[in-house]
Amino acid sequence: MSQNGQLLNFVNGQWRRSSAGQYLDVVNPATAAVMTTVPLSPGAEVDAAVQAAAAAFPAWRQTPVGDRIQHLFKLKALLEEHIDEIAAVITDECGKTFAESVGELRRGIENVETACGAPILMQGYNNEDIARGIDEHMIRQPLGVVAAITPFNFPGMIPLWFLPYAVATGNCFILKPSEKVPATSSRLFELLEQAGFPPGVVQLVHGAKETVDALLDHPTVKAVSFVGSTAVAKYIYSRATANGKRAQCQGGAKNPVVIMPDADMETTVRIMSDSAFGCAGQRCLAASVAIPVGEAHDAFAEGICDAASSRKVGYGMDEGVQMGPVITPQSKDRIAGLIEKGAQEGANVLVDGRNRTVSGYDDGYWVFPTVLDNVDPSGEIARTEIFGPVLSLMRTETIEDAIELVNNRAYGNMACIFTNSGSAARQFRYAADAGNIGVNIGVAAPMAYFPFSGWNESFFGDLHGQSHHGVEFYTQTKVVIERWPKEWSRRF
Ligand code: NAD
Repeated sequence: MSQNGQLLNFVNGQWRRSSAGQYLDVVNPATAAVMTTVPLSPGAEVDAAVQAAAAAFPAWRQTPVGDRIQHLFKLKALLEEHIDEIAAVITDECGKTFAESVGELRRGIENVETACGAPILMQGYNNEDIARGIDEHMIRQPLGVVAAITPFNFPGMIPLWFLPYAVATGNCFILKPSEKVPATSSRLFELLEQAGFPPGVVQLVHGAKETVDALLDHPTVKAVSFVGSTAVAKYIYSRATANGKRAQCQGGAKNPVVIMPDADMETTVRIMSDSAFGCAGQRCLAASVAIPVGEAHDAFAEGICDAASSRKVGYGMDEGVQMGPVITPQSKDRIAGLIEKGAQEGANVLVDGRNRTVSGYDDGYWVFPTVLDNVDPSGEIARTEIFGPVLSLMRTETIEDAIELVNNRAYGNMACIFTNSGSAARQFRYAADAGNIGVNIGVAAPMAYFPFSGWNESFFGDLHGQSHHGVEFYTQTKVVIERWPKEWSRRF
């Protein structure tokens, strides 16, 4: 997967050195050590991958679905066998703790398992006698060559939101992973190679904007799946659809959580601490705004400040570490700047995670858990995705006011409520303007057999990733109406 410290592309069943003019360093954010380098592959290399995929498509499509999924069963076994080793790669290039890396791989494996249901999931339907002697059928056929562009924060899981469904339904798939965390994908593709997919069915092209643009403009690419920031999601959705492709583009988030006075406070604080500070807050489903109602405020603020101050921060492979670094020095500076902005807008910085370091890892990109209180709901910090371990508190007196705050946002990835009241939970579930809802849950991440929803500025498209949605996205429906009069048949 690499040669002389340079990651290779995987095209047409072979590991190939890129002719890229530029390679970027891939850096361990806990140590600032360079792990490897990644090519910014030019458009010609995208074209080679697309040509190989298009050549592989007819035979792959004709391979019975029951045979196609045998490669996914092999992949599942290989992922289980190598889970710890791949998790260590994720921790080294992405920064999260080893336990978090294993956790994200489990969610990725779950998608491989779910896609093994393709023989049932991609079935069509039919009616006999829509008119006398005439039958009508709907069948699902693959699109051809499809591609996915993925972000840095879940390098093991997010490619698997797409690849298993795409290939199980008979498509040929190209991955362009994040250039910040490319080594995990390279390791994944070594396993895909061992799983025995025919050349051209699964391919890996490293790179950044130029590589992505080549995929978006290539006439043979039929569909694009994207996960990343909202600005890029919008760009990719508009360029892909303008070029006549299907697109599903998941964007950024700013997830609010309402805490009712009747919530069990100890459990709420524990779950909220994991949601806000787990993965260093670099989760699209991280709790980022806490909205305690009435007297919930003081107890929650006290509990979450204790949890924030006592969280053990460090290198994710070290024993007992509960939170790793953020991804880059630029990210660290941006988060620190947003904390400062919040203070300027009148927030009280109850726990300040800036200017901290971890002994023995002085060069790491550290931001410790941070809690801001009295955040102005109309201020910049209330609207901006921080994507770091920062929780903002906003006070309210009623559930109606809290729901108004929840819905007063551009994003709509997740909204949660902590309560002991079924009616409060129902009122919230009914009214909250978000695609993933949690009731006494801190990270409402749908299982692989449900769509990963997401609304408003958090999603552009109609069919989401995972489950039936993934199968529908990667297939086109064909409707057949048939008449076979008996009198036309040869008589025997
Ligand atoms: P990003 O948007 O910077 O990058 C995502 C991908 O897009 C990468 O592969 C990158 O190479 C490519 N890219 C970046 N700029 C581009 C451009 N101008 N043109 C074409 N391609 C470009 O996102 P990131 O920083 O890697 O990931 C963090 C973001 O992802 C956060 O906003 C987070 O909320 C979001 N995210 C969303 C979900 C979800 O399910 N909605 C899940 C995970 C992450």
